[in-house]
Amino acid sequence: MMLLSRLKPFDEIRDHLKDFETLLLLACNGCGESFGNAEPECLKSIEAEIEKMGLDVADILTVDFLCEQLLVRHWLDHANCKENFDVILVVSCGIGVQVVSKESQQPTYPACDTITIGARLGQAWGRESCKECGQCILPQTGGVCPLTACSKGLLNGPCGGSQEGRCEVFPETRECGWHLIYKRLEAAGRKDLLVGRPLIKDFSLSEPPEELVSLRNEILAKGEETL
Ligand code: SF4
Ligand code: SF4
Repeated sequence: MMLLSRLKPFDEIRDHLKDFETLLLLACNGCGESFGNAEPECLKSIEAEIEKMGLDVADILTVDFLCEQLLVRHWLDHANCKENFDVILVVSCGIGVQVVSKESQQPTYPACDTITIGARLGQAWGRESCKECGQCILPQTGGVCPLTACSKGLLNGPCGGSQEGRCEVFPETRECGWHLIYKRLEAAGRKDLLVGRPLIKDFSLSEPPEELVSLRNEILAKGEETL
């Protein structure tokens, strides 16, 4: 099982974390491990960058499969320092960030952008899904991915068809993704994120860089798929 995620530029991470003081660094050791982001050395270097931003890192926690909701709930319930952090930075694919965001009391932000390489994603037994767009915008949408939670993948608000919180495309089975985003931002006191500049995505970023494709091919050649 492999997954490709690359660290976001620290300037972008700093922008999201500037109003916080103490952070939990939560990393997925499920499939992200294939590309090293959850390796201890990488987490240590992220910790050092975070501390340069003036935040304390209360703890670093590595969990197998952040896409597994019950596991995430368990770990967050038992996090030693759960009273002592006010924000969570998640090192995982977009699914892991969405699951943590749903389960946590604290604001939750992605450390990575998830890119497609045609590989399978992790457990993903929940409803969360990631299109591996290469430019994760979950910080602006309350931890709900508009590309997958909205049936039309709308980036800047609902279509005209949403009725009583249901999606017009699948009213029987789906809540409107933008209704979910609104509720999440409202609960977090961040409705301000719904106004102002529109979200614009650079879809060329979903193309994996050549060195990562080579790495993927090397791993496959060695037969190191773990699931
Ligand atoms: S915005 Fe959505 S599709 Fe893009 S990386 Fe984040 S979760 Fe995945
Ligand atoms: S009703 Fe909501 S989820 Fe469905 S297509 Fe429109 S905006 Fe997207």
